[in-house]
Amino acid sequence: MLSKCFKDSGFEHLAVDHKSNRFHSYVTVCNVDLSTDHGWAFMFHIIEHYDVRFVHAAPPCGTCSKAREIPLGPGGGPQPLRSMEHPLGLPHLEGKDLERVRSANAIYDGLTKFLTECTARGIPWSVENPTSSYLWMIPCFVDLMANTPCRFYNYDTCAWGSTRKLKRSFLSTMPEMTGIEATCPGNHEHAPFGRTRQPDGTFKYATSDEAAYTKQLCLQLVSVVQNALNLFPQKIEADHHSVAINHKGMIALQKQPAGRRMPPLISEFAAFSTVVASSMPATNPKGCLTACFQHVPEGSKLLSFSKRGEGETSFVLKFGIYRSPIQWVEKSLMLQHPFDNFHAVPDQMLDVLFYILTTAPADVCKFRISKLKLWMKWAEELDTREKEHKQRLDPEVGRVLASKRLLLLRKIADSLDWPDTHLFDEIDEGFKLIGIQDPSNIFGLEPRPPQSSEGELWANAKFIRPALIGKVKIQILMPRASLYGMLQWKRQTTIIG
Ligand SMILES: [Zn+2]
Repeated sequence: MLSKCFKDSGFEHLAVDHKSNRFHSYVTVCNVDLSTDHGWAFMFHIIEHYDVRFVHAAPPCGTCSKAREIPLGPGGGPQPLRSMEHPLGLPHLEGKDLERVRSANAIYDGLTKFLTECTARGIPWSVENPTSSYLWMIPCFVDLMANTPCRFYNYDTCAWGSTRKLKRSFLSTMPEMTGIEATCPGNHEHAPFGRTRQPDGTFKYATSDEAAYTKQLCLQLVSVVQNALNLFPQKIEADHHSVAINHKGMIALQKQPAGRRMPPLISEFAAFSTVVASSMPATNPKGCLTACFQHVPEGSKLLSFSKRGEGETSFVLKFGIYRSPIQWVEKSLMLQHPFDNFHAVPDQMLDVLFYILTTAPADVCKFRISKLKLWMKWAEELDTREKEHKQRLDPEVGRVLASKRLLLLRKIADSLDWPDTHLFDEIDEGFKLIGIQDPSNIFGLEPRPPQSSEGELWANAKFIRPALIGKVKIQILMPRASLYGMLQWKRQTTIIG
């Protein structure tokens, strides 16, 4: 729900989840096993190479819950797994319980290291858990609180639209998070706690409904983050820097991305307006004003609202103002067709096109000859070193690359300021087939989590290898089918080309 609210506000988001989450998801979720080192390596890769503005974490609280200590009568409820003296897990734990606590501890450990790195990079963050959770007493969290400028922001879940009253807390480095602090207004009934028997005979505990956030809380959180960082992507119109909202999450799932890759050519709203009011205005089911409110015209969309501060009764309301039909037509007539505005053509190519179109053919020819002459001179100068370099390579690699002038290629690339600076080392040493790739600076970044670490791959090699060889053998047995497939593919690509 939180990711969906950020997405609806026009943010690019990456929703990361642990493999087995019982909640239905509203957005594309990237599954990463955060109890492993390689799972966290992927997360560090994301904050290193992407423009991350905010991180929110809701670590699993099942093993930390004090709800486990509420006596539930005969038959008993789940037993506590931690205590004040043993926040990392009670000493007598064994079997499944021990495994769960260990896995949760590994997640907490990775998360605190990750948030420390976020702080060092100036990325604000928040972590959510019940106020009474043992999570906050675990040594790695105690260290995190001591070493980063964060504090607690508490709220009652019912104040944000939940049917039950639970005290929950955000630990955050963002001072504006005070906007989520709220206490029960005391004017409503609360749904009971406890457990209910499910049709299949298992018990369902009231707290298991409460882990997800209400829409009200999510909208408030989006509004807090937007105002704190002064980021309003709702204003964005198509330009070549912003591609894909859901696109990246789909790639992480190894699915073909569908839907629009570019933001709309005309933004949804013509303008935004913020007003302070003592009461909420009347809106229709779509959240649009049914009448003019202060200076905001009828039909404008209420995007967010928040109390002005603790103990205040007035609200800060934010509206998006739509264009009139005439304004819409006027704006659309001024648009350029996306194919005409060169957004897909790289700068270097535009430079070359300009040079060729504005220079006499003879001069272009002379320029090309001089470049080739220079490169041939470099090739001659590098000849001896080139041979020595080949001898240093792995013999198999050296054999394949025997006819290639690797040093010359590197020198030419340097002279052109070629952005992929790792390429030549990778040619020499071999390309990594698994793990996280460093960015090439040529191709766009795609957050694709590795499915296993190098260690796991070797451990599983025993099973993967025969399966792969089996697959290849089947293809050898059916040469006609695959040849036909290849021809089909070639035909299709030729048509596209
Ligand atoms: Zn309440």
